[in-house]
Formats: sequence, structure tokens, C-alpha cells
Amino acid sequence: MKNIEELTAVFLVGGKGTRLGLGDLPKPLVDIQGIPLLERMILNFQNQGIKNFIMLCGFGASKIEAHLSQKQFDNINIKIIIEPKPLGTAGSFSLIKDIVSDKFIVVYGDLIFDLDLNKFVSYSLNKNCTAVLYAHPNDHPFDSDLIKINLDNKIVDFISKPHVNPSCGNLSNAAFYLFDKAIFKYIPEKIEGILDWGKDIFPKMVAKKEKMYVYRGTEYIKDIGTKERILKANIDFKKGKILSKNYKYKQKAIFFDRDGVINEEIDGVYEISKFKLRGEAAEILKRVNLSNFLAICVTNQPGIAKGFMKIEDLIQIHNKMEWLLANANGSFFDDIYFCPHHPEKGFPGEIKKYKIDCECRKPKPGMLIEAAKKHNIDLSSSYLIGDNLRDIEAGEAVNVKSFLLCEESLDKEHQINKISEALDQILK
Ligand SMILES: [Zn+2]
Repeated sequence: MKNIEELTAVFLVGGKGTRLGLGDLPKPLVDIQGIPLLERMILNFQNQGIKNFIMLCGFGASKIEAHLSQKQFDNINIKIIIEPKPLGTAGSFSLIKDIVSDKFIVVYGDLIFDLDLNKFVSYSLNKNCTAVLYAHPNDHPFDSDLIKINLDNKIVDFISKPHVNPSCGNLSNAAFYLFDKAIFKYIPEKIEGILDWGKDIFPKMVAKKEKMYVYRGTEYIKDIGTKERILKANIDFKKGKILSKNYKYKQKAIFFDRDGVINEEIDGVYEISKFKLRGEAAEILKRVNLSNFLAICVTNQPGIAKGFMKIEDLIQIHNKMEWLLANANGSFFDDIYFCPHHPEKGFPGEIKKYKIDCECRKPKPGMLIEAAKKHNIDLSSSYLIGDNLRDIEAGEAVNVKSFLLCEESLDKEHQINKISEALDQILK
């Protein structure tokens, strides 16, 4: 299967709206700027080429049916399937095994989103796996299902909420999937009780070493689980923020060097206990998160090539960084890039495969170029903040306006004394 038009889209529309003050209206029918959420979702998918829809209904099925029957959607086919009793987000799939396409998209009915479906689908089909989960860092990882991945984005652990000190970063499940039909082997024909994807099925799939991947994206996907979130979604919609984050449109970013900018500079952070955030880091990132810029970390970590630490150690350090930021004020990096290489040989214990003259070690701009490709970033309207001339050189090489955080007068043109000075200029 290569064509988006062949994919079925399954919407889970069984959520109750009682907690949201919607009375007996199901959540997916909540009004977003004059149009019910569910209708927005269908139109969005239809515009991107989806033709076949399945609505998995539970609570409020008759209201959903009644609503959809009044609407005229051209050239699409909507099947409504009603659970005889609550089966859970995964359990209800036992009802549709024979009517979905070989690969199919799954979306929760309480999500407000706008994303480049083609980009997500082509990434997912290329992975040739059982499941791809859209995932992103967020400002409330404490009460989100979290995902641990390896360097290839393969899922190695799925940590359902509630959790205490999970050994992973801030990468949460956005409840937006692409599945292969192979996933039905985890759904029994007859469901006893309730089966949920996050609680029951994904952890089991990870334990069976099923091929599951993450698509790490920065587009707008949020649930409308509380009254406040509905209000926020309406505001974001009005401001155009939901649409503008779609990868179809150019994004802009602020790139941050890590050591000496985000964390205290010591002579190489090789142990997790040595990692300490700089005083202004969380506050700075929060400002970026609230702006229209992505926050992206780009860091040289030659300690890996030199044998001072392993990749796994670095990942643990980055997990700690993400949790320190989340704990401080809910701030986050949209993505993190590191270069493990180092060109000069001659260190005892060095790792040969990383001892290369690569394209990613700053002052080369490889990490910025890679991030730009993945997140469709317009580098010429992006910025970089570093504390070394190498950073500035990397930025300028690809037309990224760069700031040098330093005390002495190294480079008057780019120099700043505090990161907030740079942000004041960028965000003014
Ligand atoms: Zn490199």
C-alpha cells in the first residue's frame, strides 16, 4: 500500500463530555469556533485525501449518528460502529477487524490537530512496522503516557501513567497512530472487560519486541480533556496557531548549544550527577515554547568518541535535562541533536567508529541542516545561541542569525551577556 487514499481512518469517538460541562453531548461534538470538533477532523482528513472513515462509538452514539446524518460530505464513506458495551480504546477494535484497510490511521476523537498527514503516512509506511505513534514533548509529562525510544526512533519502552521517576525523556503519546493489521493479533476475538492501547496493548507489544516506532513531531495535537484546554484550543485556533504549526508551512526555530548555555559548563559532563541547569535555562525555554519558535538543542559531545561516556550515558543525561525543565516550569526542547564524533585520534579508550571527520560537529552546520529537513525549518528566519565561536560559525554557515553568550569581548558583533537579551531581540 503506497497511497494515502487507500487508508481507512478510524476515529475513537466514545468520550463523554460531562466533565467538560457539555451535559450529554459527546466530547467530539464540542464546538470549536462555530464547527464541532468531529466535523473539523473529518474535513481535515478529507482535504488530505482520506476517503474511508470508521467512527467507533460508545457513549452518545445516537447523537454522533444524528449529527453526521445531517451533514453532506462529498465523496467519502463513513461507517458508524457502535460498541454493545464499553470495550476500551483497543477492545473496540475487535468490532472492525474485517472492515479496515491493511494499514490504517487511528485518531482519538477528543484531539484538536492540524498536521501534514502525507508526511506522517509516508514516514510510517517506510518503517514497514506494526505501529507508528505520533509523539511529542509536552508541558505536562507527569500525567502523560511516555515513550522511550532508541536512536532509530524504535520504541523500547512504553510507560503508562501514572509513573514516578520514569527512566525516559519527555516524549509523550499524542494518541495519533498508524497501524498495520498485524496489530490485531493483540486484540482477542472476545473481549473480557476493557482493553486500552496505552495501558494494556502497547506495553505488551514492547515486551514482545514488536516493531513499533515513534514519529517525533512538533505540529499542533492537543486533547480537549478539560474546560481550560477547550478554551485554549479556541484561542489557538483563532490566532492561527493550530494551522501554522503544520509542516506544510515553514517553521522557525531557536537553536541552543547545550554546555554553558542550558547547563553549567564544566570540563565535559560525562556523569548524570554532574548535570546542572543554568539559572535562566528553564525560564528561557518557557518563553520560546510560548512563542512561534521551536526550541532545538544542538550539542557537540566528543566525549563519546573519546570513550569518556557511552551513548546510553548521554541519553540518560538528556532525560535528566528534560525532567529538570519539566519540573521547573513545564518547559521543553522540541528536539535534541548531538554529535558523538571527534576527528583527532590518539585518546586511550577512544571509540574508532566515532573518530571521524563528520558533517555534524560544529562549526559544521550538519545538525542544523538535519533539523531543518525534519521539521521544515526556514533557517534564514531562525536563530542560534551558543557560547563558543564554533557555534556562531555553524549558524552563520547556513544563514542562521547567531548570538554569542560570553563575558569577555570575543566577538562584539554577536556578543550577549544573558540569553534573555537575545530573546528580547528575537521575540520583540
Ligand atoms: Zn558528528
